[in-house]
Order: sequence, then C-alpha cells, then structure tokens
Amino acid sequence: MESAPASQAEALNALFAEADRLQQEVHSQNPEMICHAGCSFCCEHHGSPITYALEWQGIEALLAQDAAFTARVKARFETLKQGLRQNLKSGELVSLREALFETTCPFLEDRRCSVYAARPLTCRTFGNTRLFADSAPDNWQEIYSCSMEKERWEKQLKMADAPPLNLPPRETLFQTLEGLDGKPASSLLVFLERYFAHATP
Ligand code: SF4
Ligand code: SF4
Repeated sequence: MESAPASQAEALNALFAEADRLQQEVHSQNPEMICHAGCSFCCEHHGSPITYALEWQGIEALLAQDAAFTARVKARFETLKQGLRQNLKSGELVSLREALFETTCPFLEDRRCSVYAARPLTCRTFGNTRLFADSAPDNWQEIYSCSMEKERWEKQLKMADAPPLNLPPRETLFQTLEGLDGKPASSLLVFLERYFAHATP
C-alpha cells in the first residue's frame, strides 16, 4: 500500500494524540472506570475494529519491520480463521459479519495490544467517549463502550452525588479522520487478510 503524504500522516498523529489526551482526561476525572491497561476483554471479544486505510498504513509499517512479529500475527490470524470457518459451518455463528464482530484481535499479545502506538481510532475511543455530540451527556446508553463499563456508568449516574458526565463525542473525532482519509472504512481483519494475501511470500 502506498504511504500517505507526510502532512496526512502528521495530521493522523495529531488526531491520535488528541484522542489519547481526551482518554487520559476522562480517566483522571473518573478513576473508578474499569477501562484500564490490562483489561483486554473488548480486544478478546470484539477484536475486528473499524479501520481506515490511513490508519492501516501505520500497522502495516510495524509488520513490515519485524518478521518474527508478523509470523506471530499470521499464526494467530490463521487459527482465528479456522475457528471462524468451523463456527460458521456448525451453525454456531450465523453470519460472517457476526463472526468477525465476535472475534479475538490477532494483534492481542499477552493480553496487551502489540500495535498500541498505531492502534485505530476505534480502539482509542472505545470505553471513554459518547457516540454523538448532540446526545445528552448523562445518557449512559449513548456511551461508546462495552456492556460492563456501561453498567458501571449507569450505576454511577444513579448515585445522588454523582458528578455530571463529561465524555467527549466519538463522532467529532471520526469526522476529522474521515476528512483525512476520504475512503470508506473497513475492518482491521480485512486489511490483515489483504496484507497476508499480497504482501508476504
Ligand atoms: S471498553 Fe470495556 S472491555 Fe474494553 S478495555 Fe474498557 S472496560 Fe475493558
Ligand atoms: S488493535 Fe489493539 S487495541 Fe485494537 S482491538 Fe486489536 S489488540 Fe485491541
């Protein structure tokens, strides 16, 4: 895949830095959050995040510079595909869409993200943003997160002395990303499939 112009890559890095800054701000204001380094439940169970081509380039660069790492990702990806095929065949999962949504991300290593610095905006915003800029800030159903963190937000909001929630809107960050990329998003696993099909021996 052709690499992005420097200005585009810099703009993406600035967007990632802003998403990370917002994430840290939310965590410091809400120390009781379950979301923290080491909780990899979403990577284990919803590990096919929405990814843009521009974001994929950063992950592809990490793969290209480390053959041993690439081999580990490839092995996990092959195992994952075998499992998905079996589940689809046995009827345990009814569609590829469902299978992809429920899968473990092949970049998860020892319960940590192995491409953390280049992880997609989807991963950076999951658990610490609300969906839309115009959604009520205190509506826990609109929080972009896993069910256990949503449940915790709901309980927190019911407490009499609960401070108002101040989560940044995910939509605003993604509008910036879409403006930078210009191409439709795909799944991280689709990029990975193409990479192993075309870029490696
Ligand atoms: S979103 Fe949920 S599963 Fe993912 S890291 Fe946060 S608490 Fe864990
Ligand atoms: S890219 Fe990293 S953070 Fe995102 S789902 Fe995969 S392991 Fe988790």
